[in-house]
Amino acid sequence: MSEILETIKARDPHEREFHQAVMEVLESVKPVLDQNPQYRQAAVLDRIVEPERIVSFRIPWLDDEGSVNVNRGFCVEMSSAIGPYKSGLRFHPSVNQSILKFLAFEQVFKNALTTLPLGGGAGGSDFDPKGKSDDETMRFCQNFMTELYLHIGVNTDIITGDIGVGPREIGYLFGMFKKLSNEFTGALTGKGLNWGGSLIRAQAAGYGCVYFAAEMLATRNMAFEGQKCLVSGSGNVAQHTAEKLIELGAKVITLSDSSGYIHDPEGVDKDKLAYVKLLKNIRRGRIQEYADKYPGAVYMAVDHNLDYNPLWSHRAACAFPCATQNEVSEKDAYNLINNNIKLVCEGANMPCTPEATDIFLDKPMLYGPAKAANAGGVAVSGLEMVQNSMRLNWLGEEVDNRLKIIMKQIHHTCLDAAEAYGTPGNYANGANITGFVKVVEAMLDQGVV
Ligand code: NAP
Repeated sequence: MSEILETIKARDPHEREFHQAVMEVLESVKPVLDQNPQYRQAAVLDRIVEPERIVSFRIPWLDDEGSVNVNRGFCVEMSSAIGPYKSGLRFHPSVNQSILKFLAFEQVFKNALTTLPLGGGAGGSDFDPKGKSDDETMRFCQNFMTELYLHIGVNTDIITGDIGVGPREIGYLFGMFKKLSNEFTGALTGKGLNWGGSLIRAQAAGYGCVYFAAEMLATRNMAFEGQKCLVSGSGNVAQHTAEKLIELGAKVITLSDSSGYIHDPEGVDKDKLAYVKLLKNIRRGRIQEYADKYPGAVYMAVDHNLDYNPLWSHRAACAFPCATQNEVSEKDAYNLINNNIKLVCEGANMPCTPEATDIFLDKPMLYGPAKAANAGGVAVSGLEMVQNSMRLNWLGEEVDNRLKIIMKQIHHTCLDAAEAYGTPGNYANGANITGFVKVVEAMLDQGVV
């Protein structure tokens, strides 16, 4: 196994995020490989860490001043063993091949966990939607799609939003996809409700994360009522994680963006959250404005001299990192533990560094890994595809009930797999092993392709 890691490091030495994601899975699946020599014989590890296809392309676009800008686009198709690729699309200046390979790799196992027949991929660009006008964003999305549409399709690769790709971007991308392909199909999910979207898709990753966390708490006879919760981020996942937590009686005391965080000791209530949605989704402002509007709250700008994030130093029962990868460091993990944290549940993908994850796994607290905890987003994307195929729209209640059932099922499956492989209560092992076995069995059935 260490040979595999050495090989991918030697092949692509700069892809640190991808190495991290692979290492985490390799550690979990060692006992599976030991019990199943046929997996090693068929070189499944060597195959699963190599994307089936990567396309990289140029996206030239005109800004409002008439200047030409050039960004780089990617489409990483990691595994189609159990279904067409299902890829999140990320627009953020940090996007590169390593970030997208890590996201695509994670997506393979996550999608396998959802019980839906979906493979895994990721796409995106180093374009920064922040500060761009609607017209600039539209021109960029249209140019991006002139290449991407060659690689996606309802039976090939179905794309949905991730960081920087929300309803506005999906709308522009879908419009161009429809024009170029001359068909109205569900090759994109997260669509508007009156043009093929599904109720609860926007809420799914956040709600699903809280449903998963509630299942974890229930194993300790605990519930959210009255519990203080730390949430990071203020985008799609953070907003809907906070929304569900508030609905279940928890007290959300933090939110953040890449400039800083707010601490509201009185708690973010429904009205305050409605303000955050308006601020972030419509006005595209900064979270700092929350503290101007609600004087009981305090804003702290990011301090790059610190080796920890003070957001994670506030005393609370539960923590939901919902912003981005590696946002919880080793020191943050110790700060959470020293404040007697009971549960950490990952809304974002790979938000905890390996050192932080090891600390959580070492303690008797509950740790919900992203692959399982935020799988609700892709699960409801899958349900949007089902509705598109049937040309039917389900009621929100039906989609939400299905989401709850899926999250409950994922929770059980993870616990069972963790127990079966000798690490009871280790949801990270459970998620990795369950996803791995499903994908690898499909690979074996389909031969060396
Ligand atoms: P989003 O709506 O674009 O929001 C991202 C949030 O994270 C924003 O508040 C953003 O702040 C903050 N952020 C981004 N990069 C950051 C950085 N380097 N440092 C600190 N804060 C940062 O994206 P999202 O859809 O909520 O995605 C958040 C996470 O959830 C990602 O890890 C994503 O992969 C994962 N996820 C998303 C879905 C989904 O359905 N959307 C499903 C599963 C998992 P700024 O506004 O300042 O950039």
